[in-house]
Amino acid sequence: MAPLPAAAVVTVGTELTTGLRQDTNSTEIARALNAAGYVVHEIRSVPDDMAAIEAAVKALLDSCDLVVVTGGLGPTHDDITREAAARALGRSLHRDETIAVSLRAMAARHTNAEARKDMLRQADVIEGATVLPARTGSAPGQAVTVGGATLVLLPGPPGEMRPLLEGYLAARTPVTPPERLRCTGITESDAQRLVQPAIAPFVVDLTLLAAPADVEVVLFPKDGDASDLPAATRAALRALGDRCYSADGSSLAETIVRLAIGAGEHIVTAESCTGGMVASALTDVAGSSSAFAGGVVAYANEVKMEALGVPAGLLAQFGAVSEETARAMAEGALSLPGSTISVAVTGIAGPEGGTPDKPVGLVWFAVAHADGRVRAISHHLPGDRAAVRRRAVIVALDALRRDLAEG
Ligand code: AMP
Ligand code: MG
Repeated sequence: MAPLPAAAVVTVGTELTTGLRQDTNSTEIARALNAAGYVVHEIRSVPDDMAAIEAAVKALLDSCDLVVVTGGLGPTHDDITREAAARALGRSLHRDETIAVSLRAMAARHTNAEARKDMLRQADVIEGATVLPARTGSAPGQAVTVGGATLVLLPGPPGEMRPLLEGYLAARTPVTPPERLRCTGITESDAQRLVQPAIAPFVVDLTLLAAPADVEVVLFPKDGDASDLPAATRAALRALGDRCYSADGSSLAETIVRLAIGAGEHIVTAESCTGGMVASALTDVAGSSSAFAGGVVAYANEVKMEALGVPAGLLAQFGAVSEETARAMAEGALSLPGSTISVAVTGIAGPEGGTPDKPVGLVWFAVAHADGRVRAISHHLPGDRAAVRRRAVIVALDALRRDLAEG
């Protein structure tokens, strides 16, 4: 197979290199370029500085088939990308009358004569370039091919950049996207140790993306060849087993909602240390009303007793953070109207409240079914209070997911 064309992205803006604004365009552009069959070799950010822009464009055009530059095409004094790009190519700029006409209409809004003049700078086009007309906003983009390499200039505001990029890439045939296997209950390195031998017979590239309590195993076509991807994905799925909760990019909560709707189950939650975050994660999913009935935030023992029917004696004997309390909370939640399955969370998020027996990070979870089955598990979750709570949400959701998947 022919190698995939090489691309680079340059983001221009002193607001980016000073950290005043976050660069989101390069992520979007890189994603779109990959989907269109380019391999992105480099993403570079430079300030609104003539020499820096010129040097970046020159260097990257030397080594890549396509260089996409975003930012600095506006009407203000610091928007100098057009001029810097023209210098890098050794070409002149000329004023495009068609663009100038539409800009003059827009410029009429400005009372200041200098501002009207500056607006027209956006009609300056590099010799030999194709204009990518502005869909929103005023700044058009441009594309110019010199010596086999193409330079594309796009405006900086994401809402203006996006349609021009889509328009430019529309002619290309989309390539096979990577397979994304999302997992929980496994570390990044264990996931790698399971998957790598399983996919060894196949020609694919593997990347692991880790977030707290969540690992994404990503399989890419190698050098644009996707023929082994389905078989490699099946092998990876077999190796990961029930740790993989989605193979289509959907989140844990989305997976749960889909499983619950399929099984006709209605979920209720009984949360102590997560304070409603499990319910919140479920209700983040569009369409969750068909799967989620409601929940109780039972932080104080009194609420565990009054709202969930946890016996006072049980709390006194085993404590609020215990297997017994988690089970009783889950069972009690099933008395909420319309519920068929419940999940309960009770733990010590810290920083106070830990004991040698029950340290900070100890969290008990229980899932109860209307037919009387209850399953409880405990975890020692690492990190500070916020991390313990975030991880507890994932473990609770995963416990629910496993029970829903088993039926
Ligand atoms: P410009 O094209 O330089 O006039 O950009 C105008 C505005 O677009 C900036 O002030 C930013 O708010 C936004 N912008 C520019 N570049 C980026 C980028 N790489 N990512 C996200 N926003 C950007
Ligand atoms: Mg700028």
